[in-house]
Amino acid sequence: MPLSGLDIYKLLPKTNCRRCGLSTCLAFAMQLAKKTMSADKCPFISEQTKKLLEEQSQPAIRTLILGEGKDRFEAGGETVMFRHEEKFRNPCGIGFVIEDSLSDEEIASRVKKINSLKFERVGQVLDVNMVAVRQNSDQKRFVRATEIVMDSTGLPVVLMGSSPASLRQAASAASERKPLLYCATKDNFTQIASIAKDFRLPVVVSAPSLDELSYVTKELVSLGVDALLLDTGRKPLSEKIWDATQIRRQALKKANRALGYPEFVMAENDDPYEEAAEAAVHITKYASVIILKGIQSWEALSVLTLRQNIYTDPQKPLQIEPRLYPVGEAGENSPVLVTTNFSLTYYTVLGEVEASKIPSYIISVDTEGMSVLTAWAAEKFTAQAISDSLENSGIKKMIKHKNLIIPGYVAVLSGELEEKSGFKVIVGPKEAAGISSFLKNLN
Ligand code: SF4
Repeated sequence: MPLSGLDIYKLLPKTNCRRCGLSTCLAFAMQLAKKTMSADKCPFISEQTKKLLEEQSQPAIRTLILGEGKDRFEAGGETVMFRHEEKFRNPCGIGFVIEDSLSDEEIASRVKKINSLKFERVGQVLDVNMVAVRQNSDQKRFVRATEIVMDSTGLPVVLMGSSPASLRQAASAASERKPLLYCATKDNFTQIASIAKDFRLPVVVSAPSLDELSYVTKELVSLGVDALLLDTGRKPLSEKIWDATQIRRQALKKANRALGYPEFVMAENDDPYEEAAEAAVHITKYASVIILKGIQSWEALSVLTLRQNIYTDPQKPLQIEPRLYPVGEAGENSPVLVTTNFSLTYYTVLGEVEASKIPSYIISVDTEGMSVLTAWAAEKFTAQAISDSLENSGIKKMIKHKNLIIPGYVAVLSGELEEKSGFKVIVGPKEAAGISSFLKNLN
């Protein structure tokens, strides 16, 4: 079990000397327990205690870096069972599998399609993270398919060899990209450990039960391989969820280091709808890497959108910079709309303004990422705040009129806002969906 703040306090000098920057040893202990400070800030802690605290500060689920270069990504490092307890930290990597039995052209074309799966949503780019190459053919073909994938994308690669010998050959060809080896089992872990050590590569451990997983991970660690991911193989979805929940519970609540690794899931299904649904379940519980088969845009978009939602910090809404945004060729007679800086609100308004094809200005007010009604109730979207935003945005010098469109939900602000800003307030629609026709009918 992780040490509590009081447990840590018992190990500190208790002199309250303030050298760590905090007023008491207890306050320092609480920060250590929350992992927001490191033990070396206190010069009086013994080396033995420091070592103990450093071990404690390691995340219960290990963080791994997969791949190399700009496309590499972090997996694992999670600290909570439920997102609302704090947040999920490292968005799970989404990858797609390619069979080595495809022709060279088919492999290159499939990778090209995978590379193109990028979407912009609420100001963020959503893209995929991995390509897996699976061996169905002989060793030579597997290596050739790996090389084609490497030449066609910078994404991290998973090597799914059917034997340690094939994996070694492909790992040798792809070693500079630090591919992920799939997979070590109770029968081959010594050979896989040897490949992993020779090329310094991470490994997926696969076993049908948690006991067997623990056995193999312990053996691999004793052989000097500890960059691991865990896979419990193909099973009915309910059993996979059970496994994933138990792995996380064991790692976080029982400090079971043998299961303290990110989870790897093959979520392939011939039916793309079922595959997307299955991936959605694994995103919520508790995969760190998910490999799919379907590469249709709609499927990738749905999976990536859910991932974006699950991996936002529930205590920090997605925000855009609060400022003036021209839409289209906005000029001195263009309408001016005001909204909040909650990303979802802003981009919904933006989409409707763009759909109207009427060049406009949108001013986003700093509401700490709250939506219109929430911000109004929290007194962040007030007549004063809107008036200040108008002043600071520079809009007054850019337009000839003094009309301001506000969201219908805050019509109540009209009078006070007119007084404070000097603008004539026009109450817009309550829902963003009405903005397009509202602008078209605006005189
Ligand atoms: S530096 Fe160490 S002894 Fe001093 S207040 Fe901080 S924790 Fe306590």
